[in-house]
Amino acid sequence: MRQKIVAGNWKMNTDYDQGLWLVSEVVNMVNDEVLSDVKVIIAPPFTHLFGIKQLIKSAPKVRLAAQNCSSEASGAFTGEISCSMLKSIGVEAVIIGHSERRQLFGETNFSIKKKIKQALQAGLSPIVCCGETWDERNGGIHFQIIQTQLEEALFALNRDEIGKVIIAYEPVWAIGTGQTATPDQAQEIHRFIRNAIQEKYNSSIADSISILYGGSCTSKNAKELFSNPDVDGGLVGGASLKSREFVDIIKSF
Ligand code: PEP
Repeated sequence: MRQKIVAGNWKMNTDYDQGLWLVSEVVNMVNDEVLSDVKVIIAPPFTHLFGIKQLIKSAPKVRLAAQNCSSEASGAFTGEISCSMLKSIGVEAVIIGHSERRQLFGETNFSIKKKIKQALQAGLSPIVCCGETWDERNGGIHFQIIQTQLEEALFALNRDEIGKVIIAYEPVWAIGTGQTATPDQAQEIHRFIRNAIQEKYNSSIADSISILYGGSCTSKNAKELFSNPDVDGGLVGGASLKSREFVDIIKSF
């Protein structure tokens, strides 16, 4: 049975007090209302991580992730935060290769591959994002784009390592646009990703990896998206900033 996961990516939103308040609300609702075995991951800004770690200790289903990490282990890299630093304050996962980081901060499959290695070495679960732009889908090259992202960023990992990765399929055209992929479009790509993992590794690894959908996921569309056989949950941006909405998404399984 694959782990069901709903992860909230807050991006660069909330100040510290607002962040702590939002998490307290989510924790209370999750503890009171969520009966399924879903894992909830919160990815707030770096500044909030330590404070939020203290708050989620009373919520066994809730885990903590960072939104980014350095591709280096330590040293003269001003402004960077390493995976071992994150691990040392109780962070368990890290989002790597989000399309905003690829598009706005020049991240490439090569730098993403280095970050994934760092995360695994530090004992963090990498949540690795992939997905095509609208032009790439329109041009009919979306499968090829995703295959290349997987091959260049992920497929150098060995069997043990790949088994610790969470994948998020996030069509770039659906992120923050209100234009969600249809359940069929999501399932088609999730199946494609799982098949690619099966071909590269084996079917038991492919069957065990959680693949999340991300892109304008809301409480209105989550149920239909999550009911697909290869969709194991969601990576949620905007809707994770409203506690009621986020918890309703978590309850969509
Ligand atoms: C995201 O940024 O990972 C995301 C899925 O954003 P949104 O849900 O706002 O589209």
